Amino acid sequence: MRIVFIGPPGAGKGTQSTRVAKRLGLVHLSTGEVLRQSRDAGEPLGLAAAELLDRGHLVDDQVVVPLVAQRLAADDCNTGYLFDGFPRTLPQAQALDVLLSERGAPLDLAVEFVIPQEELLARLTKRGRSDDREQTVRERLRIYAATTRPLADYYRQRGILAPIDAVGAMDEVFDRLTRAIEDRRG
Ligand code: AMP
Repeated sequence: MRIVFIGPPGAGKGTQSTRVAKRLGLVHLSTGEVLRQSRDAGEPLGLAAAELLDRGHLVDDQVVVPLVAQRLAADDCNTGYLFDGFPRTLPQAQALDVLLSERGAPLDLAVEFVIPQEELLARLTKRGRSDDREQTVRERLRIYAATTRPLADYYRQRGILAPIDAVGAMDEVFDRLTRAIEDRRG
């Protein structure tokens, strides 16, 4: 299966996507993780993105899309994968569609994590990552609402959107996610 997870920062996407990918035997692709690792390793790509990461701004589509294209070319992606934090903009979603149609393997499902903003602010300011300061958190939420959340409509129109209530204990949310994915798999 080919799945994308869409959700605001702090919704639990990272943790859940790692668990779900493991349970279903999917490759887990986190663009945020790739960018942070590249920054921490001192690579040019990561260093160029470092300031954007710290300010909670998005890295350019022209940087992120080739990263994903490169990763998708690896053999282990043939059996299925789960994107965590990609796509985040409409041009990224369109670029992904092109990449996947070239491979004859379109997306099966887009999961949207639905969670109220107050809950996110409370969770995020406790997390302690370098992009989790309150000012940055507000900026990331603003960017999510303006740029990424519209992707839910894009996928809804395609009939592959599954909105998931992301409030609750980690195990409860995990059960909702695996159920939605298994329903789609049939
Ligand atoms: P995440 O780990 O998904 O919360 O991503 C952390 C940060 O990495 C984001 O705030 C962005 O600065 C950057 N990033 C991750 N994925 C993308 C993407 N698909 N497009 C642009 N920037 C991204």
